[in-house]
Amino acid sequence: MGEIRTIGIVGAGQMGNGIAHVCALAGYEVLLNDVSPDQLTAALSLIDTNLGRQVSRNRISEADKAAALKRISTTLKLSDLGQSDLVIEAATERETVKQAIFEDLLPHLKPETILTSNTSSISITRLASRTDRPEKFMGFHFMNPVPVMQLVELIRGIATDEETFASCKSVVDRLGKTAATAEDFPAFIVNRILMPMINEAVYTLYEGVGSVRSIDESMKLGANHPMGPLELADFIGLDTCLAIMNVLHDGLADTKYRPCPLLTKYVEAGWLGRKTERGFYDYRGEVPVPTR
Ligand code: NAD
Repeated sequence: MGEIRTIGIVGAGQMGNGIAHVCALAGYEVLLNDVSPDQLTAALSLIDTNLGRQVSRNRISEADKAAALKRISTTLKLSDLGQSDLVIEAATERETVKQAIFEDLLPHLKPETILTSNTSSISITRLASRTDRPEKFMGFHFMNPVPVMQLVELIRGIATDEETFASCKSVVDRLGKTAATAEDFPAFIVNRILMPMINEAVYTLYEGVGSVRSIDESMKLGANHPMGPLELADFIGLDTCLAIMNVLHDGLADTKYRPCPLLTKYVEAGWLGRKTERGFYDYRGEVPVPTR
């Protein structure tokens, strides 16, 4: 089993910047790629801020922060990731986007490089089957926000070999995180359970059983959840929630996964949650105000 020293990350959005942050802090050399130079600049500045927060809380030292930042290089050229021992793809959740990335990237990779995807819901086996290395391909699913959340789901495709799994598990261990092994079925474990709950909360709103506030308060105070389900949906992004419900609905062909029409309506309106400043709450003022 070759040692993993350099990690290539494709996509420098919400997830990619967090993954770069934790990998660099754990001592890996990181190559961060995006199609947008602005995303790369924003990612570096956010990583700097987030590492700074860890310094101010005495979790890491100034020297750890400086060393981590030095280990991160950014590039607009996917071919630069050719020297990586492990690639984690964390680009937009669209299968055609991910496929095009793998197609461009594969000719540049070493034969032993492990290829992984941070996808929340797309079939790992299907993504792997279109590469030259299905046995060295798997799902490496971080949770958001990456520096804070302890869990990583490791998803084996049907062809993934043991050595690949063991290498990825050793990376999760070195990051100080905990791996949960999931089989490759729609939405894996966390989202298979979480998204139907969020979808049910939207149905509860849609049917007038409760208001945004009463639904969130009920689950916080009645079920001891740190965040209400609608608040959490806004945090994740309503487009992402809808995309995952569609994957569950299509992949498992069970009507219990039918996306709530009200969730679809919010997405059609472009009210996608925090990232667009409006979702189940309106974030444009001093405090979030329910939109229903
Ligand atoms: P995002 O929209 O914040 O970031 C996606 C990034 O990918 C953008 O910076 C975009 O410019 C870049 N990109 C698009 N096409 C590219 C290409 N061809 N080459 C390089 N970069 C490209 O999305 P995100 O929330 O960071 O999600 C990324 C992945 O992580 C998705 O697969 C998503 O399902 C998964 N994920 C998201 C969450 C979450 O809570 N948001 C949690 C776990 C996993």
